[in-house]
Amino acid sequence: MAATSSSSNMRIEQVNSTTREKRVAAHSHIKGLGLLEDGTAEPIQSGFVGQENAREASGVVVELIKSKKMAGRALLFAGAPGTGKTAIAMAISQELGPKVPFRPIVGSEVYSSEIKKTEVLMENFRRAIGLRIKESKEVYEGEVTELTPEETENPLGGYGKTISHVIIGLKTVKGTKQLKLDPSIYESIQKENVTVGDVIYIESNTGAVKRVGRSDAFATEFDLEAEEYVPLPKGEVHKKKEVIQDVTLHDLDVANARPQGGQDIMSMMSQMMKPKKTEITEKLRKEINKVVNKYIEQGVAELVPGVLFIDEVHMLDIECFTYLNRALESALSPIVIFATNRGMCTIRGTDDIISPHGIPVDLLDRLLIIRTLPYSLDEIKEIVKIRAKTESLTVEDAALEHISEKGLSTSLRYAVQLLTPSNVLSEINGHTTITLDDVKEVDDLFFDAKKSAKHLTEQESQFII
Ligand code: ATP
Repeated sequence: MAATSSSSNMRIEQVNSTTREKRVAAHSHIKGLGLLEDGTAEPIQSGFVGQENAREASGVVVELIKSKKMAGRALLFAGAPGTGKTAIAMAISQELGPKVPFRPIVGSEVYSSEIKKTEVLMENFRRAIGLRIKESKEVYEGEVTELTPEETENPLGGYGKTISHVIIGLKTVKGTKQLKLDPSIYESIQKENVTVGDVIYIESNTGAVKRVGRSDAFATEFDLEAEEYVPLPKGEVHKKKEVIQDVTLHDLDVANARPQGGQDIMSMMSQMMKPKKTEITEKLRKEINKVVNKYIEQGVAELVPGVLFIDEVHMLDIECFTYLNRALESALSPIVIFATNRGMCTIRGTDDIISPHGIPVDLLDRLLIIRTLPYSLDEIKEIVKIRAKTESLTVEDAALEHISEKGLSTSLRYAVQLLTPSNVLSEINGHTTITLDDVKEVDDLFFDAKKSAKHLTEQESQFII
C-alpha cells in the first residue's frame, strides 16, 4: 500500500506488484515448443533455440496431457539457472491450446505471516484452472453504410446529438438514421457485443466504446418522451451469437466471496468487478465446484486445466508436499510443473531427511523428470538476438559477441538482462545501435553473481562476521 497526498485530500492507493507480469514478459518470444509433426525439435523454432531433448520430452508430455494420461502425476524440470525451465513450461501451456492459463510461482511464495501455506497453494491451483463459458447473446448485426457528412454531424435524425452518442436497437419517430453507422464504430460495437436496446457512447477521437447502457438510460439522458422513440422489433437488426468467456476458478471464488449474489454463472460473472468483501472459504469453493460441475454436465461450460509452474520447488516444506500429493489426485487439478536447480538436499521442515531435489520420495514417484542443459556460445548468441529483436533493440555484432560470452561465463539470464541497461546507456551516449563500448560500460557498472561473490571473498577481512 502507498499513500499519495494532494493539497486538498489524501488518497490511499493500492499498488499492484508487476513481478509476475515481468516474469511472463521475459518469455514473450516463446510461441510454443517448436516441434515438427513427428515430435522432433527443430534447432531454432517458435522462439526456441536448442534444448532439443527437453523440448521433445515436453512434446511427449503434451500428448500425455491431451490423452488424459497425466492424472495424478506431475513434471519436474531439473537444470541450472537460466536453462529455459520456465520458458519450456510456458510453451507447454501454449501447446495445450489458446487461452490455457499459465500460472508461474516460486516455492518461497507460500511463506506468509497472514495466509496458510496450503491456502496459498490452493489459490494458485485454482488460478491455473480455466473455465470456458459458452453463452448465447443477441448482438448487433446491422448493415454498415457510409454516412453523409450531414449524417455524421447529426446521426440521430433531428435530435441534435453528435456522433459520440449512437443508439442501437431503437428508432426515433423522426427517423431511423441511427442505424447507419460509421464502419469504425461498427467494429467497436462488434467487439463489445452490444445487445438489443443498448446505448453506446463512443469516444469521438478514438472510436472506442466507452460505456454500454440500456435504452432507458438513453431516453432519460436525451430527454425523450416515450412516444418519441420505439424499440426496434427484435431480430430486425440483431442476431444470436455464441459468446465465449474465459475465467479461472479463482475468479469465480473471488466473485462469490461476498454475501449477496446468486449461484448461476452469469451472476457470478457480473460480480467479478466488485471489490472483495469476505474470505474465500473451503465451503464456498466446494459450492462453486458443484455449480461448475453442473454447468460442465449441461455443456454450458468447459474445463480448461492450465499449467501451475512452481519454480524452486526445494523451497517448499514437507507440509506443502503432503498437500500437493493429495491435490494432484483431485479431479479439478491443473498440470503441475516443478523446477529446481538443486541436487541432493534436505527436505525443508524435516530435520535431516535428504532426498533428490529436496522432494520426498512419495512425490518423486509421481514425477516425470526432464533435464535442461547449459547452452553453447552460439545458442546463447541466437537467444540474445531473438530477445533484442523482441524488445526492438539493434545490437552491433561485437556487442552481441561480448554479451554472449558473458552469458557463457555467467548465465543466459544475466546475458539477456544486460540488453535493457545497455540500451539505456547507448541512448545516453547518443547511439542508435547498442555498441561494444555501451555493453562494456554496463559491465563495469554492475556485477554479475560470480564477480560479486569474488569481490566479497577478497574483501572479507573488512566485513563484520
Ligand atoms: P531459473 O532457474 O533461474 O528460474 P530458468 O531455467 O527457468 O531459470 P528461463 O527463465 O526460462 O530459465 O530462461 C531465462 C531467459 O532465457 C528467459 O527470457 C527465457 O525466455 C530465455 N530462454 C531460455 N531458454 C531459451 C531457449 N532455449 N530459447 C529461447 N529462449 C530461451
